[in-house]
Amino acid sequence: IPALDVAAVRADFPILAREVHGKPLVYLDNAATSQTPRQVTEVFSDYFGRYNANIHRGLHTLSDEATAAFEGSRETVRAFLGARETREIIFTRGTTEAINLVANSWGRANLKPGDEVLVSRLEHHSNIVPWQLLAAELGFTLKVIPVDSRGVLDLEAYHALFTERTRLVAVNHVSNAFGTINPVREMAAVAHEHGARILIDGAQATPHQPVDVVAIDADFYAFSGHKVYGPTGAGVLYGKASLLEAMPPWQGGGEMIKTVSFESPTTFAGIPHKFEAGTPAIAEVIALGRALEWVQGVGLDAIAAWEARLLAHATTQVSRIDGLRLLGTAPDKAGVLSFVVEGAHAQDIGLLIDQLGVAIRTGHHCAQPLLAHFGVDATCRASFAAYNTLEEVDVFVESLERVIGMVR
Ligand code: PMP
Repeated sequence: IPALDVAAVRADFPILAREVHGKPLVYLDNAATSQTPRQVTEVFSDYFGRYNANIHRGLHTLSDEATAAFEGSRETVRAFLGARETREIIFTRGTTEAINLVANSWGRANLKPGDEVLVSRLEHHSNIVPWQLLAAELGFTLKVIPVDSRGVLDLEAYHALFTERTRLVAVNHVSNAFGTINPVREMAAVAHEHGARILIDGAQATPHQPVDVVAIDADFYAFSGHKVYGPTGAGVLYGKASLLEAMPPWQGGGEMIKTVSFESPTTFAGIPHKFEAGTPAIAEVIALGRALEWVQGVGLDAIAAWEARLLAHATTQVSRIDGLRLLGTAPDKAGVLSFVVEGAHAQDIGLLIDQLGVAIRTGHHCAQPLLAHFGVDATCRASFAAYNTLEEVDVFVESLERVIGMVR
């Protein structure tokens, strides 16, 4: 693996040079939103300065250029995920909307009273609540894949949860709260043996490791642009073409139809357009494509290796802090450090460490069932990206020690 040149990477992010409360910014909230390189922000001035137009139905130059850039982004996403066909890539607002699309389209068409859907205890609320809402309406049952004390999914229990009524497994690839990397390839194989489908929430995997949806044999795979060095407002649902073709539309409107009539049934466009009603976030989608190109330029293997170093260094350093308890100690883990400190509230730590220029996240990380299982309602979470440095980890740990000294 070629080593990552972190100074060169940082040079692409002007925001990293700013100060917060008179201190150099140390941005360690990447699992919530990553920063955006110049190459991506430039898309916006270029788009709005040169070829802002609605797509797909223009017969004029600007519309053609916008359409070409938008559809070019779809091809970039296809290649990024290793999907077979560009029509398997649907643009959404983000992971949340992608999961809601699957629930409301595939779910309504395929789930009946008495059916079973498996979700894991590691899930973000966005891969729990859509299924709860639908279960209440359709009368299927949600079953929970348990975790062990390290925050690793219990695969024996996973096998045992399947019955002839299991229709779907909804699981994340990487946990946002703990960083656990789940064996989604094996989990997909088990689901398929039982005739069930698998939806993988890849929001935290795509920024940190290469993903191949065909190798995983994912039926659905979702991610958000803003966690992978892109903008908010654009995300992706990958679905196998055969599944997407059989699914009914979710939202109705322009762009997703073939013919509309009051006299005979309205007919729909083919995939992916059937699932893209209305004017999409055009500039954001183009910028998302640029972000993925940027990531591939740096190299996901190099990013994974670098973040593993940052995580190892941070883990060693914080382990020396008296009364600090790490949550999520999976052997296979992405760059997330989640912890609680005896005698110091997570919120207080978050507020005070911000005064020292360090941005971390505190709270339940939209994973209340997971935190409840570990007997806490909030943790502090530091999460890493390609541009973080070992020196920043040291500043974070020193600042953390200072803050703990202040609140204890
Ligand atoms: N799943 C996971 C694992 C996440 O980390 C997040 C964002 N924190 C989401 C889903 C939701 O993503 P978004 O808010 O971009 O829709």
